[in-house]
Amino acid sequence: MTKIRITKIFHFEMAHALIDYNGLCKNIHGHSYQLEIRVSGNIDQHPDPSKKGMVMDFSDLKEIVEEHIIQQYDHALILNDKSNPELIKQLKANYQKILIVNFQPTSEQLLVDFAQRLTKQLPKYVTLHSIRLSETQNSYAEWYAEDNL
Ligand SMILES: [Zn+2]
Repeated sequence: MTKIRITKIFHFEMAHALIDYNGLCKNIHGHSYQLEIRVSGNIDQHPDPSKKGMVMDFSDLKEIVEEHIIQQYDHALILNDKSNPELIKQLKANYQKILIVNFQPTSEQLLVDFAQRLTKQLPKYVTLHSIRLSETQNSYAEWYAEDNL
């Protein structure tokens, strides 16, 4: 048995604003996010014989991440549910993809949300190893399964 980690990289555009924060990120603004999803598994345990030698088919991983993360968040505006209710109402009346969440939409909190979504969706023959979310070219946050046992 040989354990291998595989990684797939995604890009999406999203706007957010941080509530009760003193700094530029209190304003509505956008990022070009880079998302790296890493799973680990044994190369000889894929249940589908046509995928022998794979930890997981990259295209299967892509499909799960596209459906459960990218399609939800790409070109969305994400705001905390404590934001001005009148503003939320107006935004929802005028735009699609206004996501109201019960957490501060930082990279760190997004990672927690992504990890929960993926843990539910990934097939049993792989383990979510880690997720890296880059907000800018030189800032990223990481979630590691081993840190959160
Ligand atoms: Zn930001």
